[in-house]
Amino acid sequence: MKPNPFLVNVAALRPTPGGRHHVMRSGTIDGLVITGSSVPSSAEVVVEADIEVVDGGVVVTGTVSAPWVGECRRCLRLVSGRLETPVREIYERVPRVWVDNQDDTDETETYPLIGDTVDLVPLARDALLLDLPMAPLCRDDCVGLCPRCGADRQEQECDCIDQPGHPVWAALHELYEAIEDGTAIEDGTAIEDGTAVEGDAGTDGEEQPRNPA
Ligand SMILES: [Zn+2]
Ligand SMILES: [Zn+2]
Repeated sequence: MKPNPFLVNVAALRPTPGGRHHVMRSGTIDGLVITGSSVPSSAEVVVEADIEVVDGGVVVTGTVSAPWVGECRRCLRLVSGRLETPVREIYERVPRVWVDNQDDTDETETYPLIGDTVDLVPLARDALLLDLPMAPLCRDDCVGLCPRCGADRQEQECDCIDQPGHPVWAALHELYEAIEDGTAIEDGTAIEDGTAVEGDAGTDGEEQPRNPA
């Protein structure tokens, strides 16, 4: 098993509360995958941070960066970019989870300080998973694929939109024409012929005593 490059020993900082220590660590982290994009498992994740000793733990303030790849949500083209995610997190000997008062769905937690060791992996993982794009676009104005023939409209034009050959388009076409002609609401009176209230029940049955017993 490879040693974890994201472990930082903070023992040297202990005697001087308030002391800062700058670290830069890099390596690969598995499982950075969400719907829409991921950090490739072979990609280098870099954590650059100041570690500051506070009462009962340390504060890690810095940036997590990594390349990401994904699929354009409209045209499925490969898209990529780089995350530069700011972090400010607390490591404590007794980690806590609490609910933020302002938004009670937002759980905040601190990370464990085990011995004198800070493991930057959970911090980097959480920061990157939150920052990965869920629905990336290859460009803001990507026009996507034709829903009918699948043509990439960025590369080629197709004639599908104006062709009423498909039943869906034909039905829409008729509706548009009806609206234009003003005939779309012509049939609105058809249910008022009164046939629904025939067959009056309850006039020809004998009265029954309600409680025969
Ligand atoms: Zn696209
Ligand atoms: Zn088409």
